[in-house]
Amino acid sequence: MTEILEGPEAIVAAVARLGLGEPIAFPTETVYGLGADATDADAVERIFSLKGRPANNPLIVHVSGPEMADDLVESWTDEAQKLADTFWPGSLTLVLSKSGSVPDVVTAGGATVAIRCPAHPIALALIESLGKPIVGPSANPSGWISPTTADHVARGFGGKDLLIIEGGACRAGIESTVLDLTSDEPTILRLGVISHAQIAKVLGRPVHITPQDAGVARSPGVLGAHYQPSKPTLLKSTGSLKDADKSVYLISWSLKNTESAGGFAPMPHDPAGYARDLYRAMHDGELSDASQIWIEQPPETDDEEGDANSLLWAAILERLTRACHPPTPNPTHK
Ligand code: AMP
Ligand code: MG
Repeated sequence: MTEILEGPEAIVAAVARLGLGEPIAFPTETVYGLGADATDADAVERIFSLKGRPANNPLIVHVSGPEMADDLVESWTDEAQKLADTFWPGSLTLVLSKSGSVPDVVTAGGATVAIRCPAHPIALALIESLGKPIVGPSANPSGWISPTTADHVARGFGGKDLLIIEGGACRAGIESTVLDLTSDEPTILRLGVISHAQIAKVLGRPVHITPQDAGVARSPGVLGAHYQPSKPTLLKSTGSLKDADKSVYLISWSLKNTESAGGFAPMPHDPAGYARDLYRAMHDGELSDASQIWIEQPPETDDEEGDANSLLWAAILERLTRACHPPTPNPTHK
């Protein structure tokens, strides 16, 4: 049975379970994560099987700060330190060459490791109490909608033995930016709240973005269908929303209400608010009686290309595109 606990006793209980190699779920500022001691290969394997995650999709290791990160990498570079000084704790994941302290299962056998220091007091308290880094893939069955509340996690893993730490609704709401520092040019593998422009400013050199739809297998989590409700989910133009009937759960930033749709999630107009609420709206659509979900295309902004708002909308659109990929049935959360 899943069990949601809160307060200091939840952290004590979670640390005890981590010590036994059992998975737990914990809040971060991006989405909820499924945690295991990153140095315990058997425990990490249990995370892969609980999520149904392909073994070739590496995990992000969560640390309490650069000191803990240093032990996980071959060399903690000046650029890594600069970025950590600016963006940690926060939603930036750094990919670096791994040291021998990281079991191969964590990195899917690869020579690099992805590391981040989360900006959520509970996540930090958990890592500090354990005194070790914690892997933390999103706490959902692989491919399904990411969780931004403890209830979303429970919905994904109902019936499984899992302790979930209550930490309220996630403040950022979409996954971290993943930045590869192992090639000649710093390269964004997954778009997120922290933009290439912000990173380039800190590093004082250009940052490349891996095309998010080019089928490049460097960061498997960004490929094809992902973040998906089990109902057919369609990306719709603003003009076509009026055609929504009772079979439709509508997620829209432009409408205040709707008479015709079977369910409705009004969304914030600003991208930060939209990102925070997106997965909750998708979970609500999944729970509703509607048989399909329509998501309105993000607004055309007047912002200049490269400006913070337009970059965040691009990160949101990347999630929407994958959520609206033809769905793959996922038996684990049925
Ligand atoms: P999530 O499952 O939501 O935690 O996403 C983790 C993301 O980080 C996925 O897109 C992974 O492919 C990516 N990732 C983790 N480790 C690495 C690595 N060593 N190199 C490249 N991408 C990685
Ligand atoms: Mg995920």
